[in-house]
Formats: sequence, C-alpha cells, structure tokens
Amino acid sequence: MYNITLIPGDGVGPEITEAVVRMLEATGVQFIWDVQNAGEEVYMQEGTPLPDRVIESIKKNKVALKGPITTPVGKGFRSVNVALRQELDLYCCLRPCKSFKGLSLRYDNVDLIIVRENNEDLYAGIEFEQGKPETLELINFLKVKTNKIVRNDSGISIKPISIYGTERIVTFAFEYAKKNNRKKVTVVHKANIMKFSDGLFLEVARSVAGRYPDIEFDDKIIDNMCMQLVQKPELYDVIVLPNLYGDIVSDLAAGLIGGLGLAPGANIGDEYAVFEATHGSAPKYKGLNKMNPFALALSGVMMLKHLGEIQAAKRLQWAITDVLNEGRYLTYDLKPPGTPACTTSEATDEVIRKLKSNVA
Ligand code: NAD
Repeated sequence: MYNITLIPGDGVGPEITEAVVRMLEATGVQFIWDVQNAGEEVYMQEGTPLPDRVIESIKKNKVALKGPITTPVGKGFRSVNVALRQELDLYCCLRPCKSFKGLSLRYDNVDLIIVRENNEDLYAGIEFEQGKPETLELINFLKVKTNKIVRNDSGISIKPISIYGTERIVTFAFEYAKKNNRKKVTVVHKANIMKFSDGLFLEVARSVAGRYPDIEFDDKIIDNMCMQLVQKPELYDVIVLPNLYGDIVSDLAAGLIGGLGLAPGANIGDEYAVFEATHGSAPKYKGLNKMNPFALALSGVMMLKHLGEIQAAKRLQWAITDVLNEGRYLTYDLKPPGTPACTTSEATDEVIRKLKSNVA
C-alpha cells in the first residue's frame, strides 16, 4: 500500500489523471491517493496557486503523480511546475522518448533519454521587469562594470549555471547510463556564445565524463543538436542539457515518437519524486475526453519502477504497448486527421481490459 500525493492539475489534467489512476489501480498495486489541488482555481480560492499543504503532502509521501498545470503567459502568477521543482529540489527532469514499433510514424528507431537540469538557467526565476527602478539600477551597474549598453526599456532574465548544479545533473546522466546499460552520453550547450554559463556546464560535464571511461561522451551545440535529432536520432542515447534547452528538446524528442501524447517524465531529487507527462494542460481540449492518457500512464510506469513495483510496471507497459500495436484504440493524436479516434476513457478501458485478462 503506497501513500501518493495526487495533483490533478487543470485543463485536461483532471481527466488524464483520473484515467491513469484507474490504470495504476488495475495493476493490483494498492494506493492511498492524497489529492491536492493546485493551479489557477486554487489561486482564486486560496490566494496562491501552490499552497504549503501541497508541498507538505509531497514531503510526507515522498512521491507524487501530477497532472499538468496552466501557467499564465507573460503575466500573472509564476509557474507552479517550476516552483514545485525548486521547493523540493527536484533537480533532474528525466524524459525517456522511445518509438513504439506498431505505430506508423516518421521514425521507428528513436530511443532517447533526455536528462534536463531542472532548477537553474533561465528558469531560476530571477527577472527584472521593464521600467522598474531595480531594473534601471541593474542596467546602470552593467554599463559601469562591463561597459555594455543595455537599452533602458529592456526587461532582463538572469541565467545562472553553477558547478554544483551541473555536476549533479551530469553525474545523474552518467549513473543512469551505467545502471541502464546505455552506451553514450551527449552534453548539449551553446558554450561558443555563452562562455561563462554554458561554457561552465560543458567544462564540468567533461570533468564528470572523465570518471566514466566505459561510457562514450560527446558534446553538441544546441542548434546543431536539433538538426541532428531530426535527421538521425538513432545516433543519440542519453542527452543531458541545461534547463531551457532541455525543455525544448524534450518536446522535439516527443515529436519524433508520435507527439506529446506518448512522452512521459519524472522530476527527481535526492528525497522526492514527482511523476508527470511532458505535455501541458492543453486548455482548449479540456473536458472533451479526447486526449491521449498514455504519456501520463507511462509516467505512472516510471513511478511503479521507482516504488520497486517492477512486475506491475512491466505489465502496465506491456498493456499500453499492446494497445498501441493493435491500433484499434488510438486517440486522435495518433490517427491521420479526419479519421475516427477513440476517447480517453476508451483507450483507458482497453488497457485495463488487457491488465485484467492478463493478455499483457
Ligand atoms: P500543451 O503541451 O498543453 O499542448 C500542446 C499541444 O500538444 C496540444 O494543443 C495538443 O495538440 C498536443 N497535446 C498535448 N498533450 C496531449 C495529449 N495528452 N494527447 C494528445 N495531444 C496532446 O502545450 P501548450 O498549449 O503550450 O501549454 C498549455 C499550458 O500548459 C500552458 O499554460 C503551459 O504553461 C502549461 N504547461 C504545463 C506543463 C506542466 O504542468 N508540467 C508543461 C508544459 C506546459
């Protein structure tokens, strides 16, 4: 019996999490779900989108399953997703992207592990709003200290990258490679331009790589990496990136395997883990019962493994794979436009039917 914090999220979050809870329970593993709402509605009711009770629940249970949460664009409250990762020191965002053989997609040979640094970089939340006195003070400081002119009508976001943060994320990537028998780790950066932030990331990565002589190591500049991934993804294995590039490349990699509907993820720290899909809350699809529940279900597979429920994880993975291979119960994102697709509930029921009949 596991106590798990369940954050339904908003947009399509509640319908997807409900589906995944049903699939997880059908494995036979027993859960007590500690349901904790967060996000925009909670902000209206409680004055904060991320009340302390949510953090306390995860600290108590150590593990959470989370639906996506909307972040207002350009204004309003800061991202709950980023805040959770920072508050709980979930420094690694682990996102496997593997092709399912049965689907007819552009690529059938993708098997990537994206390891995204989750706390630093431009996501650190250190921002100076255009026109504010402290922003003008910073602009003046930059002029005096660096002789660089930043226009007075600028907004500024700061990009910190530390030795400590880089060392632990790159070590995570190599340890993951070692434990999972992966052959190569690629570090991604823009060290040619940002010499003191991405340059440091690369330098530290090289020194960590020296401790793992049995694992191949290379580095790629982010723009080249994007092109390489689209042209020949089969050349890559574990990819470790600073936060912003990791966010973007995660979606790129999701696109290679059929879209966000199939891309799982986990935010992992030394003490806590929060399992959530790569995708967001897709608000325009809210309540339509048409989204693909498998990205979060595959995050559920990762959660089962994390809990040590290896057989249940395998069974759920097999059931999802079987449904995808058979191709009869596919949601709209996996079908050609204009062809009939199944609902979230139908795809979920089919996985549960397989789990219960032991077909998988
Ligand atoms: P999104 O991931 O919500 O959706 C982009 C598109 O991908 C959708 O319109 C849909 O076509 C497709 N898609 C996403 N999930 C799918 C699924 N399960 N099945 C089928 N198709 C799917 O990205 P967005 O529209 O840029 O962001 C919407 C909101 O989500 C924003 O407020 C953003 O900040 C937030 N967001 C939250 C998280 C998180 O909670 N961790 C992650 C990313 C984005």
